[in-house]
Amino acid sequence: MSEQALALVTGASRGIGRAVAEKLAAQGYKVVGTATSEGGAASIREGLQQIAPENDAIVLNIADAEQTAEALKSFLADHGTPAVVVNNAGITRDNLFLRMSDDEWSAVINTNLSGVFRVCKAMVKPMIKKKTGCIVNISSIIGTTGNAGQANYAAAKAGLEGFSRSLAQEVASRNITVNCVAPGFIKTDMTDVLPEAQKEAILATVPSKRFGQVEEIAAAVAFLAGADAKYITGQTIHVNGGMNMG
Ligand code: NAP
Repeated sequence: MSEQALALVTGASRGIGRAVAEKLAAQGYKVVGTATSEGGAASIREGLQQIAPENDAIVLNIADAEQTAEALKSFLADHGTPAVVVNNAGITRDNLFLRMSDDEWSAVINTNLSGVFRVCKAMVKPMIKKKTGCIVNISSIIGTTGNAGQANYAAAKAGLEGFSRSLAQEVASRNITVNCVAPGFIKTDMTDVLPEAQKEAILATVPSKRFGQVEEIAAAVAFLAGADAKYITGQTIHVNGGMNMG
């Protein structure tokens, strides 16, 4: 990289986002990670600055349109236009459809789908101006397969993939790529909370016979962010140990 490229990674406080932020920082990007709290941002900053002192962190709540617009305006003013944006932040509010409340539905759609829309809204215009950019959205295998108890999450992730393909078509001629990485079952806080019986049932459906590691998702993101992937856009790369093929 001639000029140090800037990467914004949402939800970098733990799990997949943290691994993505660390991977990109190790590759020489200047990385700004986000968390929903000051404490979370401080801990990201401390971790990333052990890799390189220019790395930073900001507070961002993508479920809040106003806070997102303000925080990303400051981010652009302080750090400039990112070469790479990784929309990783996400939540689950699992429940069977008959028991799923309006709040559970809305929270997941608002964070996992509308939140990505908001971040892209703030980032795409400056990327167009800069005539380059790369957006990687973290989807899920559930967006393809569906899953009992996750109608909200499946809808958000399937929507995210459709959103990504549409945006990819609109900005491809501007030298901006938009892709998704769809993890299978990865060991993080999000999956640690599942009951043991459910984890074993999931494991039985994974041909690789193990859960994925966050570093294996980070590797796919880093590939899509890199110069070798510049002709790849509107795609979803599945990283799931063969849990779903095709
Ligand atoms: P995680 O460990 O639960 O971490 C979630 C991250 O998202 C945290 O950094 C959290 O920040 C952030 N976040 C939550 N709500 C937010 C909001 N409103 N605004 C901004 N940031 C917010 O999750 P993970 O397992 O690493 O998952 C990361 C992504 O991968 C998600 O999009 C998830 O859907 C997807 N995914 C995960 C798996 C898996 O097996 N783990 C599988 C498929 C897809 P705070 O720490 O501040 O709360």
